[in-house]
Amino acid sequence: MLDKDKIKEDLEKEKADLTDQLKEIGRFNKETDEWEAFPEEQDSPESDSNAMADRFEDFESRSSTVKVLEERLKLVEKALKDIRKESFGKCAVCGKEIEMDRLKANPAAETCKKHMNKA
Ligand SMILES: [Zn+2]
Repeated sequence: MLDKDKIKEDLEKEKADLTDQLKEIGRFNKETDEWEAFPEEQDSPESDSNAMADRFEDFESRSSTVKVLEERLKLVEKALKDIRKESFGKCAVCGKEIEMDRLKANPAAETCKKHMNKA
C-alpha cells in the first residue's frame, strides 16, 4: 500500500521549498496566475553594453529557473489535490500501484513505469 500520509507530507514540504525558491527570484502574478522572474534591478547607474548584456542574461536565467520551479510546483499541487482520490498512485492503464521512485520523480504520475508512455 502507498503511504499517502507520508507522500502528502513530502509533497507539502516540497511545495513550501519550491515556493520559497520562487519568492527569491520572482513574484506571483495574480492576473496571469503565473510566477514571473523579477525584472532587472534599476539601482545600478552603469549602462555600458557589457553590463547590460550581463543583466539580460541574469534575467533570462532567472526566467528559465522560474519556469522549471513553477512546472514542478504545478505537479506537486496537482498531486496534493489528487492524493485524496482513490485513483491516486494507481496506474491508469493497468490499475497497479505506481512505483514509489516514479511518483517521486513525478508526483502527478498517472501511470506505472511500464505504461508511462501509453497514457
Ligand atoms: Zn501500468
